Amino acid sequence: MSANRPEPMFKNVALIGVGLIGSSIAHAIRRGGLAETISGSAHSKDTLETALRLRLVDRGCIRSADVVKGADLVILCVPVGACGEIAAEIAPNLKPGTILTDVGSVKAAVVRDVAPHVPEGVHFIPGHPIAGTEQSGPEAGFAELFDGRWTILTPLPDSDPAAVAKLEAFWTALGSKVETMTPEHHDMVLGVTSHLPHLIAYNIVNTAEHLERVTNSEVIKFSAGGFRDFTRIAASDPTMWRDVFLNNKEAVLEMLGRFSEDLSELQRAIRFGDGETLFRLFSEARAIRRGIIEAGQDTAAPDFGRGNKSAAAAASGDKADGDKAGNGKADGSATARAASNGKKSAAE
Ligand code: NAP
Repeated sequence: MSANRPEPMFKNVALIGVGLIGSSIAHAIRRGGLAETISGSAHSKDTLETALRLRLVDRGCIRSADVVKGADLVILCVPVGACGEIAAEIAPNLKPGTILTDVGSVKAAVVRDVAPHVPEGVHFIPGHPIAGTEQSGPEAGFAELFDGRWTILTPLPDSDPAAVAKLEAFWTALGSKVETMTPEHHDMVLGVTSHLPHLIAYNIVNTAEHLERVTNSEVIKFSAGGFRDFTRIAASDPTMWRDVFLNNKEAVLEMLGRFSEDLSELQRAIRFGDGETLFRLFSEARAIRRGIIEAGQDTAAPDFGRGNKSAAAAASGDKADGDKAGNGKADGSATARAASNGKKSAAE
C-alpha cells in the first residue's frame, strides 16, 4: 500500500453477476482502491471470461457459492428474480461479519426472497443505485456510472448501524449520494419514476411497431419527434425488466391506474376541444422538467445535447456533453469522460 493511498475498505468484494452494474462497481472499486481483491461469478462462461479478460475481477467462478468464500462484502448484481435462489446457494459460505447487499431495482421482493437465507452474524442490507444505461453485459460498465447519482439503501429494522454506515461509505466512495428508506417506500417511488416510464416506453414502441404501414420507413426516418427517446428506454434488458414488473406488481398496478385516469382526462380534453385543460396540464409537466434540471439530474441542453455538442455544453453551463441524465456534478468532468468513452449515463 502506498504511503498516501488509504487502506482498502474491504479485503475481498464478491460480485455475483458482472453485467452493466456489477462491472461498473468493479471499475469504480479499482478507481478508488476500495478492495484488495475482487472476485466474481456469472451465469455463463462467456461473461465470466470477458470479466477476467477485462480484469474486472481477479478471480472468477461460475458457482456463486465458491466466489463468496472469504469475502467481506458480497453484492448481488443479478436480475431481481434470481436473488433468492442465489442467496440460498451462497449462504453456507458466508462468514460472520460479512455485509451482503444487492443492487436490484425492486426492494421488498428482494427482502422477501433473500432474508430467510441470511445466516446469523451476516449483515443483509439491500440497496439500489439509481444509475444505469440501456446497455447490459460486462463490457457496458464504466467507473463513472454512479458519480453524483443517488443510491438508495433499505436497511431492515434489525440492521446493524455500523454495517449500514460502512455500506453507505462504500457507495459514497463509488461516487454516489446515499439515502435510506424502507423497501416499500422505495418500490412506490421507483414505481412512478422508473418502472411506469419503462412500461409506457415498451408499450409505445410496440404500438408503433404494430402499425406495419409506417414501421419500415417512417418510424425510423421521423424518429426524432419524441419516439426516439422512448426507443432508448425500450432498448433496456428484457430479463431485468420482466423481473422488475413481476416483483413490483402492486406499486406498478397502482401507478398504472392513476396514469390511465390522467390519460383519460387528456383524451376527454382533446375530444371536446378543451384547450385550456391541455395548456394547464402541459404547463404543469413542463415545470417538473425544469425542477429536474435545477436539481442537477439532467442537462438543459437542447435535445439532451445530442446535436451541437459545444453549443449544448455552453447551454448547460458545464462540460458534460452527451449525458442524457446528467450527474449532478458541478464540473461534469466524469460524465464527459464517460461520454468520450462512448458511454452515456442515464436514469434507470
Ligand atoms: P446485466 O448487464 O444483464 O447483468 C446481469 C448479470 O447477472 C450477468 O453477469 C448475468 O450473467 C448474471 N445473471 C443473470 N441471471 C443469473 C442467474 N440466474 N444466476 C446468476 N447470475 C445471473 O444486468 P444489469 O443491468 O447489470 O442489472 C443487474 C441488476 O441491477 C438487476 O437486478 C437490475 O434490476 C439492477 N439495476 C439495473 C440498472 C440498469 O439500468 N441496468 C440500474 C440499477 C439497478 P450472464 O451474462 O452470464 O447471463
